[in-house]
Amino acid sequence: MLPLQAVRSRLVSASHRQLYNLNKNRTFSTTSSNMVKVLAVLYKGGQAAKEEARLLGTIENSLGISEWLKKEGHEFIVTDDKEGPDSQFQNHIADAEILVTTPFHPGYLTADLIGKAKNLKLCVTAGVGSDHIDLDAANKKNITVAEVSGSNVVSVAEHVVMSILLLVRNFVPAHEQIVADDWNVAQIARNAFDLEGKTVGTVGCGRIGYRVLERLRGFNCKELLWFDYTDLPEDKKTPDFKRVDKLEDMLAKCDVVTINCPLHEKTRGLFNDEIISKMKKGAWLVNTARGAICDRNAVKKALESGQLNGYAGDVQPAPKDHPWRHAFNTLGGGNGMVPHYSGTTLDAQARYANGAKDIIQRYLAGKEQDPANLIVIDGDYASKAYGQREKKPTGQKPAGP
Ligand code: NAD
Repeated sequence: MLPLQAVRSRLVSASHRQLYNLNKNRTFSTTSSNMVKVLAVLYKGGQAAKEEARLLGTIENSLGISEWLKKEGHEFIVTDDKEGPDSQFQNHIADAEILVTTPFHPGYLTADLIGKAKNLKLCVTAGVGSDHIDLDAANKKNITVAEVSGSNVVSVAEHVVMSILLLVRNFVPAHEQIVADDWNVAQIARNAFDLEGKTVGTVGCGRIGYRVLERLRGFNCKELLWFDYTDLPEDKKTPDFKRVDKLEDMLAKCDVVTINCPLHEKTRGLFNDEIISKMKKGAWLVNTARGAICDRNAVKKALESGQLNGYAGDVQPAPKDHPWRHAFNTLGGGNGMVPHYSGTTLDAQARYANGAKDIIQRYLAGKEQDPANLIVIDGDYASKAYGQREKKPTGQKPAGP
């Protein structure tokens, strides 16, 4: 077998090396010259994962990469234990070289933990959304962060359309009547509407936001609007979707708002009392992006006051006492919240497990990464999606969908 250095120089052209050679700072483990410690923080699947091998995002099925990594001679630690200084995550991060996490059970890689991670070179998000990693701190230590871009964007876009429909048509309380052995059409119909003729707007028109608008075409909405600081590529522009330059202007027009931007310093708490007050009274809000983009008390208050007629969330784990679990509109409905599963259908899991393996494989072989997957690399942002920055991103994550 060729030594790794020789393989690398065969696979990576000089021009690409500067941007994409993730191995350049690589240190080798003491036990075997090429052995790498890979740490994965995944969620516990329990009985469901034992019965369904396609639940790849679980500790039990470990993204389907356990055998491969072990055969290659690498150390693979898989855990769901991630909270507190004595957790497996916080212990193993000290000498892991690759960290794999998912947004569905996020191992929060804070600046403090990054400071303790002596060997960390690559963070792989099995899925989309790397806000659980302190990206600025990763940049300071030249740690690369890559996600499996596009892996679950169809899954989420379909869920958004479903959530819009179930809010607008007042589906959840209608179904609840049935399982409660009840039957009261008027009580449901008094707050049920058609989506046809309504205005829908997306905050963020990247891969998911654009796909939501595409899927809404057939509903004959009054207008399909989008707000984003990144323009659409020319070949994606269409008169069917209208760009609005100011968020508040879009909110004032929308019956339905769907949030499809990453969580970063400019979107954290964006939907607070003030921004929600700019929405049309009685609008519906769908948030499949990240919980922290919406202020928890502002959403609850807006539902109770009638400012919002409904909220559907599909975001990170919420504690048992989270106010959104029991946040209802003035008629006792309008709650479309589910556990964070829209982006983890079995189809999506196959795609993000394969994609995570591909990222790790490329790293181990010294091959360039797919630029679309890179979030930060070489001490800088490679993606334009995590906030507007003065310096131009060095990488090439394509803008738009
Ligand atoms: P993307 O990178 O393709 O698109 C994101 C878009 O948001 C970009 O066009 C970017 O310019 C825009 N944006 C960033 N900040 C903005 C702001 N302040 N205002 C308006 N637009 C802004 O990403 P994507 O694949 O469409 O995913 C978007 C987000 O959805 C992810 O970052 C993640 O947080 C979330 N997500 C959730 C799930 C789930 O299971 N619920 C799954 C996948 C992704």
